[in-house]
Amino acid sequence: KLQQRIHGTTLEINLNALTHNYNFYKTKILPNTKIMVMVKAFAYGGGATEIANHLQQLKADYLAVAYTDEGVALREQGISLPIMVLNPAQESFHMLQKHDLEPVVYSPSFFTQLGKYCQIHQCKMSIHLDLDTGMHRLGFDLSQLSDLKVLTEQFPELHVASLYTHLVGADEALHEDFSLKQLSLFSKMCEQIAAFLGHVPLRHALNSAGIIRYPAYQFDMVRLGIGLYGVEVNGMHDAALRPISSLKTTISQIKTLDAGETIGYSRKGKMKVAGKIATIAIGYADGYDRRFSNGTGYVMIQGQKAPIIGNVCMDMCMVDITSIPANEGDEVIIYGPSISLKELAKSIGTIPYELLTNISSRVKRVYY
Ligand code: PLP
Repeated sequence: KLQQRIHGTTLEINLNALTHNYNFYKTKILPNTKIMVMVKAFAYGGGATEIANHLQQLKADYLAVAYTDEGVALREQGISLPIMVLNPAQESFHMLQKHDLEPVVYSPSFFTQLGKYCQIHQCKMSIHLDLDTGMHRLGFDLSQLSDLKVLTEQFPELHVASLYTHLVGADEALHEDFSLKQLSLFSKMCEQIAAFLGHVPLRHALNSAGIIRYPAYQFDMVRLGIGLYGVEVNGMHDAALRPISSLKTTISQIKTLDAGETIGYSRKGKMKVAGKIATIAIGYADGYDRRFSNGTGYVMIQGQKAPIIGNVCMDMCMVDITSIPANEGDEVIIYGPSISLKELAKSIGTIPYELLTNISSRVKRVYY
């Protein structure tokens, strides 16, 4: 309540639902398969520290972040789980070393630079090799494995802790053939690498959707992301997951307008008939997408859908509540268990990942 008075918009995170989702994925993997949880991008908007802390209690095996500073922030908050850093900048090598973070190495030149750093500073690092099996984002491809062999011999300071690849479309049946080709190429590359390393690092390929669609390819670890946060991604397990977050705000003011009156910037909204609008305390600076403007998006007030009317402003937007008996100060649900994030995202041509990760830092996170 106090939080809501300070700033109208709050993201409520249900940690019990997170535990439920974590346990759901545990039932989908073999007892020995490890779980790496993606807590990059502020744990998909949910708040990295609190969620990482919770995962530490749940005994997750690994965490992953995109950038070094995300990992540093977790270490500074006392997170001691191993942390993989997907795309560390060269300027951050000393931070990786200082905070015991494990970088992904994705190219021969990057391997060389990190290896030289470790030689100069007389340190060792655990690294993870990204293998490109078709995503064509980062990673070593098959033709670079001979270079990799030479580099692993040249720089024994770098201990290869894991090998991984990423599927281009684990959530879509359309891409099953391609995904299976990726998985088989991954197996082949892992075998070749293990042969010259003399040990078999952890191998991992599956994201949330992959865990459900390709259970035979868990290898040693899976990388859980969006599913943990309660968003169903491939229509195969929606009933089993619980949404973990609700984005809520309040009604600041209610106005009664005549037919034909216009609302907001550029007069984009227009009352078709006389009625009521409510101004709510969320705008695009909170991460409420401007593409929801003028009837594309809606919010829930008193259990009913209230369409956005006019353009979404920076800190506020207006909704049509002509048929809703609402009062100033009432709660407004932007996203939550009663609203499908997937459908909402689709209505503006995006994906739930973007809606979640766009919720800005000024929105207070509250955990229960
Ligand atoms: N692995 C990698 C390399 C990723 O980039 C991501 C997410 O972007 C994931 C795993 C997790 O994917 P998801 O959130 O679909 O489970």
